Amino acid sequence: MTLSDKLDLAIRNIPDFPKPGIQFKDITPILRDAKLCREITLALTAPFKGKNIDVVAGIESRGFLFGMLMAQELGCAFAVIRKKGKLPHRTVEIEYALEYGSAIIEMHEDEIESGQHVIIHDDLLATGGTAAAAAELIKKVGGRVEAFSFLIELDFLEGANKLSPFGAPIASLKHY
Ligand code: AMP
Repeated sequence: MTLSDKLDLAIRNIPDFPKPGIQFKDITPILRDAKLCREITLALTAPFKGKNIDVVAGIESRGFLFGMLMAQELGCAFAVIRKKGKLPHRTVEIEYALEYGSAIIEMHEDEIESGQHVIIHDDLLATGGTAAAAAELIKKVGGRVEAFSFLIELDFLEGANKLSPFGAPIASLKHY
């Protein structure tokens, strides 16, 4: 069975969560299968082996799951991008627009050194607003966005268009 087939079986689709009309892609069943997690980690990191990546930056909270495993596999640092108010040390933040209102994400100001090569990872790319804000944040702290990495990309929401200004490739394991 291909990895794509395995992901089809393991990703649980929950209709109308958290609100009507959303098809929520639940990745928690994947986490029960250690061999599948290993296979996913290898597939996520394959494009970046030998590319001198310094940091994988994971987006709260599901971006932490495979983001940390990717960093381990690549032998590089892992940085957390969090919703405002969770990080204890000095932070840099960025505000971005949501469908209704806005949100703020932030990271510790010393987590990335100027000029470091960064991969941004999250479980899923939808409209791209979150990943675009993360990329702005990485740039603000002096990092270079080398790539975006996702388990799942929802093609019909065209998040890739929102990320194109950053000029970094998008690697997604599964497209719906
Ligand atoms: P966006 O900013 O629209 O690209 O939304 C991406 C963020 O929202 C990611 O952190 C995802 O975990 C979450 N998300 C958006 N849509 C879904 C969905 N259909 N299923 C699961 N998570 C989603």
